[in-house]
Amino acid sequence: MKRVYNFSAGPSMLPEEVLRRAGEEILDYQGSGQSVMEMSHRSSLFHGIIDRAESLLRSVMKIPDNYKVLFLQGGAFSQFAMVPFNLMNGSHKSDYVLTGQWATKAWKEASRYGQTHVVASSKDKTFTYIPKLDPAAFTPDADYFYICMNNTIYGTVYHDLPQTGKVPLVADISSCICSEPLDISKFGLVFAGAQKNLAPAGLTIVVVRDDLIGHAQEMTPTMMNYKTHTDHGSMFNTPPCWTIYICMLVLEWIQNTIGGLEEMGKRNHKKADLLYSFLDNSKLFHGTVVPEDRSLMNVPFVTDSDELNKKFIKKAEDEGMVNLKGHRTVGGMRASIYNAMPYEGVEKLVSFMEKFEKENR
Ligand SMILES: *Cc1c(COP(=O)(O)O)cnc(C)c1O
Repeated sequence: MKRVYNFSAGPSMLPEEVLRRAGEEILDYQGSGQSVMEMSHRSSLFHGIIDRAESLLRSVMKIPDNYKVLFLQGGAFSQFAMVPFNLMNGSHKSDYVLTGQWATKAWKEASRYGQTHVVASSKDKTFTYIPKLDPAAFTPDADYFYICMNNTIYGTVYHDLPQTGKVPLVADISSCICSEPLDISKFGLVFAGAQKNLAPAGLTIVVVRDDLIGHAQEMTPTMMNYKTHTDHGSMFNTPPCWTIYICMLVLEWIQNTIGGLEEMGKRNHKKADLLYSFLDNSKLFHGTVVPEDRSLMNVPFVTDSDELNKKFIKKAEDEGMVNLKGHRTVGGMRASIYNAMPYEGVEKLVSFMEKFEKENR
């Protein structure tokens, strides 16, 4: 058996330890004689799994007691509608910062359900930076203020959060959830598709402050109302059972094998530092993002030649490093180095880049 280093932006690598454990338990989960894929979501066994997943997430992320945790389906994309459905209920106004495609898609969707205001955008430079925000441009009576925290496609991240005062801050944290500590009390709501850092595709995690639940707009479909799901412990209908189980195993890995989010963050910084410092010194490759806004998770880079980019991607694949092709709107390469990417994977990438540079300059 041969495993590759997968630099995909998502779905992405899972810890080998988790895959092995899931493999061992695939036919018989803890003596039940059945797979988690087969069991009733109403069974006490599955209740044990979803409860443990939630309590692990709460302890790993240090989620305060006045926040609910939801395990939903529909991807981060569904949250682009659920956020305005549930939160744009007072002044019917909201603020958005456009830092890439995901923020822009969220803003367009919200604009169908209320009055949205674009506070700032970095589109002028292909989203290669996080705009400086002037609080005077914020809508004082907005129902919420929306950001995409880590911009998966462009490789930027907010190192400082906007100061929104009483207006709840909402963040898409799909590509940075559990990558390092995050103070949830600064947000009204965060959400994440789990397929980047926590699980296979099919699970969307929402963490929402109690006071923001239960005031959805009148036309909100039942399934899009957070209250439907908080009232039923994420079991209003059949939840994505298998994905929640893998998420539980990944959270156990973060807590027990890694040692929590402080340690996870240290590991991720060590990986990113290795790659960025190589890029800063390379004569062939360069990063596309301004240094002060660089992401810990997604690292886009280019050479000056499309042909060399293509050659690099192909040769890397031959060496067992896959999915390094950049997003079509940026071109070049992108290395997504999520939680499960080991340091050795980044080391291998960097030494391959060194060799490629020597051979192609
Ligand atoms: C991947 C990603 C999405 C899209 O998630 P889906 O689960 O496919 O809907 C949205 N936002 C960010 C920041 C992402 O990285």
